[in-house]
Amino acid sequence: MADRHVDHLLIGGGIASATCAQALREGGAAGSILLVGRELDPPYHRPPITKGYLGGGESRDDAAIAVGDDVEVLTRTSVMALDPAARTATLSTKDTVSYDTALLATGAMVRRLPVDGGQLEGIHYLRALGNADALRRDVDGAERVLCVGGSYIGCEVAATLTTLGKRCTVVLQEEEPLERGFGLQVGAWVRSVLESHGVEVVSGVEVERFEADDERVARVVLAGGRTLPADVVVCGVGAMPDVMLARKAGLEIGPAGGVRADAQLRALGADGLFVAGDMCEYDSAVHGRVVRIEHEEVAAAHGRTAARNMLGAGADHVEVPYFWSDLADWATLEYVGPAEGWDEEVVEGDLAAGAFAVWYRREGHVVAMLSAGGHGDLDRARALIASGEALI
Ligand SMILES: Cc1cc2nc3c(=O)[nH]c(=O)nc-3n(C[C@H](O)[C@H](O)[C@H](O)COP(=O)(O)OP(=O)(O)OC[C@H]3O[C@@H](n4cnc5c(N)ncnc54)[C@H](O)[C@@H]3O)c2cc1C
Repeated sequence: MADRHVDHLLIGGGIASATCAQALREGGAAGSILLVGRELDPPYHRPPITKGYLGGGESRDDAAIAVGDDVEVLTRTSVMALDPAARTATLSTKDTVSYDTALLATGAMVRRLPVDGGQLEGIHYLRALGNADALRRDVDGAERVLCVGGSYIGCEVAATLTTLGKRCTVVLQEEEPLERGFGLQVGAWVRSVLESHGVEVVSGVEVERFEADDERVARVVLAGGRTLPADVVVCGVGAMPDVMLARKAGLEIGPAGGVRADAQLRALGADGLFVAGDMCEYDSAVHGRVVRIEHEEVAAAHGRTAARNMLGAGADHVEVPYFWSDLADWATLEYVGPAEGWDEEVVEGDLAAGAFAVWYRREGHVVAMLSAGGHGDLDRARALIASGEALI
């Protein structure tokens, strides 16, 4: 017997759940909505953690996401167990909640770098606002910051902390920053943007270990023996879907490590349960394959589709995934896709000047488009990706 019943239970306190709550109300849901999140804060945007919030230009309030007064939000509360067949969830408060429909949106956790010295003081990972607070306190007295990882977290942190007067180095396995998502020519341009603002980029290398002076990180040793000094280290080496609860509940986990959902974002084999955000691995009607994507706008879009379907729409998720990244005020990138692979890059505009679009095509079909400096038509790209048309 459950302690209480809600019409809609939203598990996870991130943007996917928050957007779902908003969309449920906008879609006419009159019943009770309970959002359960284990963080200290109610839902907030994570992108400012590496950008405005870290740089000091944005506050906690700026990052907050309003869910509406008529949505009950429990913070510092975990869902410990989920029984999809009985449609009940057990909270860390020991209460059992039954539901008519539920959203599972437990997000992702940082991947830790498994090297010697990885636990030293002065080594940071960024996922929550509190991590940015800790990094800000630590960099105050620091001169040299070393960012491990050439993806958007490492590049954005290096850009933001450079604007705060720190000497930043980005160390990456790949040849160029952001190369994995956008290819070598865009990667070379990103490197030039970083370097022209004083960021050192050390590429094609592996971190072997961290070394300390007085228990605090002091240097990074790379494979091959090169040593780089560091007062503070920030690791941005990927995230893993948080599927602990889902796994315990017996839900199917996909090859990309997320919870499997169909094209309508329904958890496979669990009536009334929907999946959204970073941990959602769904049959994409747009891509014709199973995808899992870790972008804020995608999580929000999932939340909207899930809400519609919780209200009975029976609609496929058809929004083309969108991603953006800011390197301080030096460059803004926007991207629709994602391309699983491509055999042709067509550049429009002036790559060297930072006002360009790159169209990624596979076998003649547009599979993604990257826009820098506001160049290029993202809506056209969305339409071409969704339709599978060949022309640009
Ligand atoms: C530092 C940083 C910068 C980023 N910058 C960008 C950017 O510039 N552009 C972009 O597109 N994307 C960016 N992203 C990615 C984007 O923030 C994520 O894709 C988005 O937050 C995913 O939302 P979500 O709701 O799926 O999951 P999350 O935001 O991870 O939220 C899930 C929440 O659920 C909680 N939870 C987990 N398990 C339980 C449980 N059992 N019970 C209760 N609560 C639970 C978690 O603690 C977490 O608070 C960034 C991410 C990070 C970390």
